Amino acid sequence: IDDIEKDTEADLSPRAPIVTVMGHVDHGKTSLLDYIRKANVIAGESGGITQHIGAYSVEVEKGKKIAFLDTPGHEAFTAMRARGAKVTDIAIIVIAADDQIMPQTEEAISHAQAAGVPMIFAINKIDKPAANPEKVKDQLAQKNLLVEDWGGKIQSQDISAKSGLNVDELLEKVLLEAEILELKANANREASGTVIEASLDKGRGYVSTIMVQNGTLRVGDYILAGSNHGKVRAMLDERGRQVKAAGPSTPVTILGLDGAPTAGDTFRVFEDEREAKSLATRRSQLQREQTIRTQKH
Ligand code: GDP
Repeated sequence: IDDIEKDTEADLSPRAPIVTVMGHVDHGKTSLLDYIRKANVIAGESGGITQHIGAYSVEVEKGKKIAFLDTPGHEAFTAMRARGAKVTDIAIIVIAADDQIMPQTEEAISHAQAAGVPMIFAINKIDKPAANPEKVKDQLAQKNLLVEDWGGKIQSQDISAKSGLNVDELLEKVLLEAEILELKANANREASGTVIEASLDKGRGYVSTIMVQNGTLRVGDYILAGSNHGKVRAMLDERGRQVKAAGPSTPVTILGLDGAPTAGDTFRVFEDEREAKSLATRRSQLQREQTIRTQKH
């Protein structure tokens, strides 16, 4: 899957950042993702994003977008990384200001660091009387993680995920971090990216949410995702609307695969249907052999 032609600098244009939210249980990851999802109803659009599809994209300011993996927690992040996927540009680490740095906060930090993904701290629940964001920043400093107000380089933002207080500021910081990263992709080529989640739907067959990371995916394209393949029959955005094309950093739900690939599997468009099929068969074979081998040991 890596035998694809490299893009030259001239082919590349800026793309939106892809963000993962991590942190300790109950510190507010789900609340933050829910708030951003619900608050982002672009003027004139009816309704926000109601379904959970594993990833969504929101428009922030001046048409700038941010894509979120809607799978809170680092399990998904590590599972995807274990499969070789790099689908996160920026990690938001949520820490409750009425609590402290907890084991899963530390794990989230080390996962982001190991992946070389820049972090932004969202110090949450500042609406609570017991909230003490400075205490959290002090604890971070003791771990050599100096936030900006403490003279360091890591961005942090005090927020309330529940009321939405300062969430806009947090998103601005995400855009700032993205600008520093100079994220780019080539929209004018066959699409490739990562599977976020997939399942079997009674009425629609296999439904997969994928993140396009390079190129543009179109209805009618033939794709190989993990060891599954098929022609993209329909594509839906996070609002359930049919779309014909999805460019870089766009999450999209696709119909038409012959099975459910695993989260973290990469996908790629093939011009030649036969090539995709034979690769899919070879991969299933390898997987079966591997399973048999593990069972023997
Ligand atoms: P997760 O386990 O990290 O996904 O945490 P949740 O988002 O499920 O939040 C855990 C609990 O904290 C829930 O009862 C939330 O309503 C509450 N919570 C989350 N954010 C805030 C906040 O900003 N302020 C207050 N007061 N409560 C919050």
